[in-house]
Amino acid sequence: MSDYSLPDNFYTTLSEKYQQAQDNKDVLFNGDAVVNEIELIPIGDKKANIQLTMLTSLMHRPEKGDEKSNPFEKPEPELTILDKYGPDHQFRLVFNKYPVVSKHFLLVTREFKHQNTPLSEAELFASYSVLRELAKQSPTEEDWFAFYNCGPESGASQPHKHVQFMVTPSRGKFKSYADLISYNHSVPADSQKPLQDKNIPFAHYLIRLNEKDVDEEALATAFVSLFQHSMNVLKENNQNHVSFNFIMTSNYMLMVPRSCAKFEDKLGINACGVYGLILCKNQELFDMVKEIGPLEVLQKVCLPNASDLHVDEYSY
Ligand code: AMP
Ligand code: AMP
Repeated sequence: MSDYSLPDNFYTTLSEKYQQAQDNKDVLFNGDAVVNEIELIPIGDKKANIQLTMLTSLMHRPEKGDEKSNPFEKPEPELTILDKYGPDHQFRLVFNKYPVVSKHFLLVTREFKHQNTPLSEAELFASYSVLRELAKQSPTEEDWFAFYNCGPESGASQPHKHVQFMVTPSRGKFKSYADLISYNHSVPADSQKPLQDKNIPFAHYLIRLNEKDVDEEALATAFVSLFQHSMNVLKENNQNHVSFNFIMTSNYMLMVPRSCAKFEDKLGINACGVYGLILCKNQELFDMVKEIGPLEVLQKVCLPNASDLHVDEYSY
């Protein structure tokens, strides 16, 4: 068994524990109150989706955690899915106490590590292994992704290192621009050079993953390439912080460098947001995004498209 193996009944345990936690109100979720609206966004001659979600009950969620009141130091036992996971048992898997979709969970480091650090080889491969296992064990209609908010302007709220896992909206209704880029077969699948669509107004970098080639080293190499490109964009735009959002599916990794955590000081945007899943905690914000347009909102909290920016190994 590899250090990254998960039990064969992982998905069953995940579902049962989640149901229990929800019944006992250990996770605070008001699914009936969720309003979802899916918008069509033209990307060149193709169309992608952005989903706007409104959930007012999230107002109870803590805005900012700190090292002293750290929910991931000793997670609630009722929220713990696996207390020990990964090489040297360096991780835990726990439910998000304030989910917006059911079974939303996190991989957290057992020892405190700061959220402002890039993902390590083990953190990347653990995240990939969780996704691969979910793809194997969960119902075929569920598509899972992992996300990581890194840095002061990334929209993260907790400083203890955590990668999150969530299902995407149903396949027939939602396609992220990242899916469109990944499916564009005119670009070789084995390219380690990050892809960026010039029709999207903000800088973003995507590398496809080929299941048969994925190991710890391949993930780390791809991550470093995405990171190097993102750092270069931050530098070119005179940003004096390192903030980015990172998304992983079993098919690709996406990184989006960030300029600002909140749109006009009102609406927090994290990795879900830059992936095309924007969360609004009241009607006013929901109406604001619809009026301004979701792509315009994302453009303001990210950095300009950098398709024309030349990056080589000496760039940073
Ligand atoms: P981020 O906002 O990216 O830093 O993610 C931190 C996540 O932790 C948020 O989505 C919160 O909903 C979640 N969270 C906050 N407090 C707790 C807690 N006590 N147990 C589990 N998850 C929590
Ligand atoms: P935030 O306040 O943006 O950190 O998010 C509150 C909670 O919802 C956290 O658990 C987030 O990880 C999660 N979340 C954020 N955006 C979305 C979204 N668009 N759809 C579903 N869940 C989300």
